[in-house]
Amino acid sequence: MTHLTIPIAAKNQDEAKLQIEAALSAGAEMLELRTDYLENLSTDSVKKIIIDAKSEIGNRLPIIVTCRDKNQGGAIDYPLKLRMDVLVEALKAGAEYIDFEYENFIVPENRGRIRVALSQSLKGKLILSAHNFAAKFENVGALLRRITTLYTAAIPKIVYAANHINDCFDALDLLHKTSGERIVFCMGQAGLISRVIVKKLDGFVTFASIDSETATAPGQLTIEQFKNLYRYDSINAATELYGVIGSPIAHSLSPAIHNACFADIDANKLYLPLLVEGGAAEFEQFMRNITSRPWLGFKGFSVTIPHKENALNYVIQKNGVIEPLAKRIGAVNTILIDKNGGLKAYNTDYAGAMDAILAGMDITRGDLRNITAAVIGAGGVARAVVAGLSDAHAKITIYNRTVKRGETLAADFDCDFATLDELSRVEADLLINCTSIGMHPNINETPIPKEYLKANMTVFDTIYNPAETLLLKQAKELGCKTISGMDMFLNQALLQFKLFTGTDADPALVRKSVIEGLWDKDTRADSADSI
Ligand code: NAP
Repeated sequence: MTHLTIPIAAKNQDEAKLQIEAALSAGAEMLELRTDYLENLSTDSVKKIIIDAKSEIGNRLPIIVTCRDKNQGGAIDYPLKLRMDVLVEALKAGAEYIDFEYENFIVPENRGRIRVALSQSLKGKLILSAHNFAAKFENVGALLRRITTLYTAAIPKIVYAANHINDCFDALDLLHKTSGERIVFCMGQAGLISRVIVKKLDGFVTFASIDSETATAPGQLTIEQFKNLYRYDSINAATELYGVIGSPIAHSLSPAIHNACFADIDANKLYLPLLVEGGAAEFEQFMRNITSRPWLGFKGFSVTIPHKENALNYVIQKNGVIEPLAKRIGAVNTILIDKNGGLKAYNTDYAGAMDAILAGMDITRGDLRNITAAVIGAGGVARAVVAGLSDAHAKITIYNRTVKRGETLAADFDCDFATLDELSRVEADLLINCTSIGMHPNINETPIPKEYLKANMTVFDTIYNPAETLLLKQAKELGCKTISGMDMFLNQALLQFKLFTGTDADPALVRKSVIEGLWDKDTRADSADSI
């Protein structure tokens, strides 16, 4: 059983009391009293906090007491003797677990003292921990064996910084190959998935903070994120995994949408943000890591910037099935893994964009024949949009900053190319922004000055954060019909959900998740747009 554990990182007893109350009401399943955060640390203050906490929570919530060495991520640099005194006193006061550093436990006299204290405690258990804040350990399996050989009754805790999502697989393998009480996960944004997957693989503990201000380690999620966003309570060994592969990905709305919709249809599925930094090599390594570990239970992915073309090439390389449309567009935004490990690739941007255009212009597909369309941009989204418009026989001109990229796209779909300067003379029934210009946080930018727009144009901005970009605001002021990227985003998410589950998602729930997600992001300074 995995315990969702909240660290109590308070400066004094009063603060500790408040944090413990907050942890209890947030749904903590275990507390970790990080006594190295206490100012003027003494055995008495620790004893009092434990006794007070126990009088409130009884035995229903176990307590880990830690007094971390500064070298292993401790807050205040207390001497080893005091730190050991605190742990010994914690056992006497009724703490169920004490956490001591393996590298200090190796020293015979330290080991002797802790062993004696444990032998005098009725229920106290020892967590022997090893942390690496810089990188992964060379051999986590050997480290775990060294820890448990030194003290067979210890619960080993091995935690390291993942510098890339691909670093997480050593930790996940270790959990998969072992059983019983062991704590293994990765820190940092790249390590996020390991903190959640711990529950599927029956790790003993995963840590969550009460809020982002009280996090005690890099990449620690809040309990609210665990429970509401990542469906913590419903994760079990049979949970199937999905996720969005991209970089950056921290502010993606896709986990909120898909997890809400999975919960709505009561599916034992979980959707994660998968930060895959780097290019094709890192993407391929990630996919190899996933596909060589069917026990992880990954079944499907959304793919976003910058990996849509890498995804297509990878599925081709693996002789997977590629929807002809995705091949023609040259980009994939959805991958499924079947029960034999085979890959299937799709592009839902095409249909998402086309449905948004037809609904926004209130026309049928046939009405697109011979309309003039100006597409700004030549990246993955532009390719999907141009493919759709070209199939409907619209007359398209592509405007792009990088001439070669624009010309290539124009040649692929037999349309015209013009430079961004030529937008001053643009004449089009439909103008579409497929660049990131105007995207949050650069909301005062627009890809085309207002004076170049014409009142008879329909203007579609594929950006969905903000839902109304400066381009759309100015177009509205001129009397143009406008279409928001939010409509395209909702459409493509609905199509992906159908591919993931075979079931339709509730469009109102998808819209609500996006709106709440955008509102949440607008309140954060470091927000960025990515799906
Ligand atoms: P991409 O492949 O990286 O392409 C980006 C395009 O934007 C390129 O044509 C690039 O021009 C152009 N560009 C970027 N910054 C520019 C600048 N400062 N000046 C001029 N041109 C610039 O990205 P993508 O996957 O196509 O995504 C593009 C946008 O679509 C995203 O920003 C996102 O907001 C939106 N999007 C919307 C949805 C939705 O469902 N609504 C889904 C995915 C993406 P160069 O070729 O010269 O680099």
